[in-house]
Amino acid sequence: MKHIILFGPPGSGKGTQAQKLIEKYRLYHISTGDLFRAEIAASSPLGLQAQDFMNKGILVPDEVTLGMLRNKLNSLKDVNGIIYDGFPRTIAQAEALDHMLNENNECINALISLEVTDDEIVHRIMLRGQTSGRADDLDESIIRKRMDEYRSKTSSVFNYYKQMNVTHQVKGIGTVEEIFDNLCAVMDRIA
Ligand code: ADP
Repeated sequence: MKHIILFGPPGSGKGTQAQKLIEKYRLYHISTGDLFRAEIAASSPLGLQAQDFMNKGILVPDEVTLGMLRNKLNSLKDVNGIIYDGFPRTIAQAEALDHMLNENNECINALISLEVTDDEIVHRIMLRGQTSGRADDLDESIIRKRMDEYRSKTSSVFNYYKQMNVTHQVKGIGTVEEIFDNLCAVMDRIA
């Protein structure tokens, strides 16, 4: 079973590309952001816990995120592999994920990082905000906060996996199809 992390800053196109990748490679998509939004829509206790953090553009505490992820992984049966999108976002999350996978003699096979500039990110997220219905996509100060969180807490996750020799960097600027082709070139190498 393959475990692939799609990595990159908020707005780098992970969600869009993950949708296309799961279709082509028959994988299961886990987006912690989507899981949180579903919990919020259901007004669950977990959703209520996550909501305040998300609205402010700061990371949900690791223990909340990890509890949710563990439940999700335990509920999956007969999947070929998983694409993680928006997870892990801290070193502690990466360590916990590795630990969970190692228990089943599995590991992260690849981390693919989408490389996008800061200006492009703000532009894309503001554009997405017009249709996504996400409050955290409409306010530039919240977008900047999410980028700060990425720089201070998430970007080091790349180096963590680089030490394990599983990282790949892909140009994340261009059309959706061009970026998808760049990703497929990496996917076909690790398949
Ligand atoms: P984006 O990549 O555009 O920021 P996401 O849907 O991935 O969108 O995340 C939205 C918000 O959900 C984040 O700002 C954060 O508050 C919360 N979140 C999502 N995934 C995680 C995670 N792995 N750890 C902590 N918080 C998370």
